[in-house]
Amino acid sequence: MRTLAGVGSTPRAGVGTTRWYRPEADLTLPDRPDPASVDADAELDRYEAARDAVREALRDARDRAAERVGEEEAAVFEAHEEFLDDPTIIEDVEAAIREGTPAEHAVADRFDEAVAQFEGMEGRMAERADDLRDVRDRLLRALLAGDGQASAAAAGLAALPDGTVLLAERLTPSDTAALDPEAVAGVATVEGGRTSHAAIIARSLAVPAVVGVGEALESINDGETVLVDGEAGEVVVDPDEERRESVRESGPDAIPERVATADGRPIAVAANVGGEVELAPAAERGADGVGLFRTEFLFVDREAPPTEDEQYEAVTAALSAFPDDRVVVRTLDVGGDKPVPYLDLPDEPNPFLGRRGVRLSLGEHADLFETQLRALLRAAATEDGDGLAVMFPLVTRVEEVERAVDAVESVAADLAAEGGDHAVPALGAMVETPAAAFLADALAERLDFLSVGTNDLAQYVMAADRGNDAVAEYHDPLHPAVLRALDRTTAAAEGSDAWVGMCGEMAGDPALTELLVGLGFDELSMSAVTVPEVKARVREVDADAAASLANEALACETRGEVLYALGLGERDA
Ligand code: PEP
Ligand code: MG
Repeated sequence: MRTLAGVGSTPRAGVGTTRWYRPEADLTLPDRPDPASVDADAELDRYEAARDAVREALRDARDRAAERVGEEEAAVFEAHEEFLDDPTIIEDVEAAIREGTPAEHAVADRFDEAVAQFEGMEGRMAERADDLRDVRDRLLRALLAGDGQASAAAAGLAALPDGTVLLAERLTPSDTAALDPEAVAGVATVEGGRTSHAAIIARSLAVPAVVGVGEALESINDGETVLVDGEAGEVVVDPDEERRESVRESGPDAIPERVATADGRPIAVAANVGGEVELAPAAERGADGVGLFRTEFLFVDREAPPTEDEQYEAVTAALSAFPDDRVVVRTLDVGGDKPVPYLDLPDEPNPFLGRRGVRLSLGEHADLFETQLRALLRAAATEDGDGLAVMFPLVTRVEEVERAVDAVESVAADLAAEGGDHAVPALGAMVETPAAAFLADALAERLDFLSVGTNDLAQYVMAADRGNDAVAEYHDPLHPAVLRALDRTTAAAEGSDAWVGMCGEMAGDPALTELLVGLGFDELSMSAVTVPEVKARVREVDADAAASLANEALACETRGEVLYALGLGERDA
């Protein structure tokens, strides 16, 4: 048994067989042999078999996408299939093979040429280059994987065998979203922080995950038995029976009803979701509605933005999954570590300090904002629509809130003029910048609610990139400076009619529930996996004792003092 330490991301553990995901290295081609030594017929057969495997993988991906996200997203894979079966490409590849080029080189040469052609074109055509690259990579993976492995290789991450522990240098949000949570027993990465979006998606899929393990992870080979303990932040190679046994213990049962502290203060415990597939698991775990619907996941991994109707469908699905609860939908929050290729977001030296969140919605992507607001206002008028609340991300200025509210009103006027059913939902702002925390009173005065995003707030208060494990110790929601920003926000809400929630990852840590209740939060929203623990914990909390605990923590000057005050560590930690 050998233990590697990292940062626990999903607080669950799983055991399985390792498989490295190396998207680039996996595609290194062998040296070109002497053409005379190439068996052209055998190579033609290999090319055909690879095409069959890729076609099958694309159809699977298409069906899965149609089921999970919608028909339009699924159509992307039909475009991929057209490239796969493009007669001129096939003709050229086969001709090269007959001249003594091995199949993988013939494919790479021909697709690289096509990629270069598309890259030289304008707009949408240039984006087709990404589709071509994807088809090329799938073909190459199928060809390089060898007999028996071609289908799995062509399917990539979507078709891992049951009980796989996936090891990777890093994963992108779309890599993570492609994982089948039934098949993947755990994920461990060399890089990455707990609040990177890949980690958040793993958590919402309830896949055990440890990130930021560092180079030591490279010492693990394919095919080893490994336990990923996302609670302890450990990756255990060759775990003994006792350690494996700990994995089989499951978490507490869901508490379907709403909860209150021991002395009767109600606290809503809601779920963060990124898409329709996460709604049913959230409801099963007893979430009191949705505290953060990250709509940007409707926009990634496709070629064009979702239509107004698609967005309307996604929001009404969330509302009908929680007919008696509130559903807080965040308007589009792209930029930062959430790139969306077709939006042509600017290339910026510091994307987290650049054009992201509401800045884009009020600026270059006002069109997308309007479409999204139309979908939201229509959804607010449906049978379960009175639970809808809408919030704006990355607010730093009062004027942004005023302009966003104006945009809502103007969309309402348009819909009224068209005679369409609509209603104006409750409106709120995310507090995820120091500016928003300092201005929380002014924001609360103008809005129905505030929701604190501690992932970004800790990043901006502490000047520490949320995805960079080299500064993970600074990205610390328990640092007194972050706690004081939280306090300023809850105090502002208390002095107004607005309610205040937290939807950053901090809200899902049951060890912090008492502190957060004491700080005055009305709602805690988290990856669904920890909803039952947090609900159980709320019931044990005494609101007065929690307020004293919060005051003690707020008086601290160092993280160590805070941990000590919370009974979670040594004073000099
Ligand atoms: C946050 O910043 O805490 C938050 C909830 O938003 P996201 O993680 O999507 O940036
Ligand atoms: Mg954020």
